[in-house]
Amino acid sequence: MSQFSPSLSQSSSVPGRLYVVATPIGNLEDWSPRACLVLRRANRIVAEDTRHTRKLLAHFDIHVPLVSCHANNEAQRVPVLIACLARGETLALVTDAGTPLVSDPGQRLVDAAHRSGIPVSPIPGPTAVVTALSVAGFPGSRFHFEGFLPPRGGHRRDRLEALAHLPGILVFYEAPSRMLRLLQDLSDLLGPDREALLARELTKIHETLLRDSLGALGQRLKAAVESIRGEMVLVVAGQDPADAPARAGSPTLERTLAVLLELLPPAQAAARAAALFGLSRSLVYRRALELGAHLPTAQPECSDPDR
Ligand code: SAM
Repeated sequence: MSQFSPSLSQSSSVPGRLYVVATPIGNLEDWSPRACLVLRRANRIVAEDTRHTRKLLAHFDIHVPLVSCHANNEAQRVPVLIACLARGETLALVTDAGTPLVSDPGQRLVDAAHRSGIPVSPIPGPTAVVTALSVAGFPGSRFHFEGFLPPRGGHRRDRLEALAHLPGILVFYEAPSRMLRLLQDLSDLLGPDREALLARELTKIHETLLRDSLGALGQRLKAAVESIRGEMVLVVAGQDPADAPARAGSPTLERTLAVLLELLPPAQAAARAAALFGLSRSLVYRRALELGAHLPTAQPECSDPDR
């Protein structure tokens, strides 16, 4: 739809509406009748990949003009789409699978619609994060959705270290080719015994759920590298409440380390804090070195401050 360029100047006083519509993550029968109806009645469907969405629309016999809007053209498309909405059009935003804006494009358009006073309505439906959570069976209702970690480097390390301090369930999206690496990094960070669920090809014919410790999941995948295919979500259990002093009113890792570092060399302080918080020693040791650099040097035990 490179020809798509309606005039920006023709706005009416009655704005239309932007519907944000979830689409199936595999099984077409998961799609709701309301989602179908909204798309059928829209003036335009704004799609991440028009070729992909065209197949979905053909299956449901929906014939509505498509406009592409993805990471590479969103900045140019948004003002034009806002102009369509401002003059009364109804637009439906969809992505290739699942819920738009969940590790998917559309944020700029939705933001611009709100800022322009255009009504925005969700049409809820599948999303891999909630689908995987619903079958994980881990205790606790708090979860952190990380989506895709940066693939490498300092950004990845920073995110991993930030995650080590979160108490709830963690959910990751990852490409099959990088899943082993993710399991390894999380095993180093949280310990190989932490429980996790690897949910593969959810709602599709080859749906597979593997629930095991992070260490064992890594071993199982290594033993069958050739079968690591398809779309995957990794759900990691929160830390066992019995091993988690970092709850409300309890000391944080930083405060505990700061106290231990006054008494012990960094390696010993890190080993004790790692055991206390159920974290990997290497991660806590790095944190101890960082913290140690900012702490005043400890006084020798027998020094007399009055002398
Ligand atoms: N917007 C989508 C949603 O609501 O889940 C996510 C889009 S994101 C670009 C694609 C990632 O979602 C995949 O790499 C995978 O991690 C996860 N995913 C999507 N469909 C899946 C499925 N059927 N089974 C397992 N994971 C899936």
